Amino acid sequence: MRVPIIAGNWKMNKTIAEARELTTAMRDDLARLAADGQIEIILCPPFLAVPEVGTLVKGTPIRVGAQNLFWETKGAFTGEVAPGMLAEVCEYVIIGHSERRQYFGESDEHVNKKLHAALANQLKPIVCVGENLAQNEAGKTGEVVGAQVRAAFAGLSDAQARGVVIAYEPIWAIGTGKAASGAGANAVIGLTIRGALADLYDEATAQAVRVQYGGSVNAKNAAEFLAQAEIDGALVGGASLVAADFVAICKAAVR
Ligand code: PEP
Repeated sequence: MRVPIIAGNWKMNKTIAEARELTTAMRDDLARLAADGQIEIILCPPFLAVPEVGTLVKGTPIRVGAQNLFWETKGAFTGEVAPGMLAEVCEYVIIGHSERRQYFGESDEHVNKKLHAALANQLKPIVCVGENLAQNEAGKTGEVVGAQVRAAFAGLSDAQARGVVIAYEPIWAIGTGKAASGAGANAVIGLTIRGALADLYDEATAQAVRVQYGGSVNAKNAAEFLAQAEIDGALVGGASLVAADFVAICKAAVR
């Protein structure tokens, strides 16, 4: 049985003071929902607010993640954050978000390097994959997403693969208010993503890896996604910035 995992990606929103306010507003409700281990809840603020959010949720089951990392351990890489630095302050890290691929030139190869670096530093990765609108309309979703999964997981052992969370995020659904359908996302995750994992490893590993859906998930539509057999949670952007909405989404994940 895969434990559903809900992660809030705050993107480049919230100063440290604002992060404190948002975390405090939802901490007790989230802690109650995650208390018996039925769901996992992760907050992913911008780098600067990660330690503060970590302090605020200390002693609760709420976990903290970063939104990116660099693969080198240290050195002349101005502006970057190394995996070991993150491991001091959080447990999870988002890798290969489509905004990083789109605006910062992250390639499948970069994603693969980041994944290896995260795992080598005991960080739990959430790896994002997803097709753009043109690819979707051209019927290329399976091809594109399958290739992204294969490239991301290159060189990972079976045991390492099982510790990775995948977020299926169709790019056309991110921040647009135009979510995929529950059944559509379920099919891509079941056939394409678990299919690629079964090819790379075996069926047992394909069934063990947790796969989230992301793309305009909100308090109203969350239940539709979370009821799907292949969907193990959600990566939530905009709605994770509203305490009541994020709590409602997490509530919908409790089975
Ligand atoms: C995201 O940031 O990964 C995301 C899915 O954003 P939104 O929920 O706003 O579409």
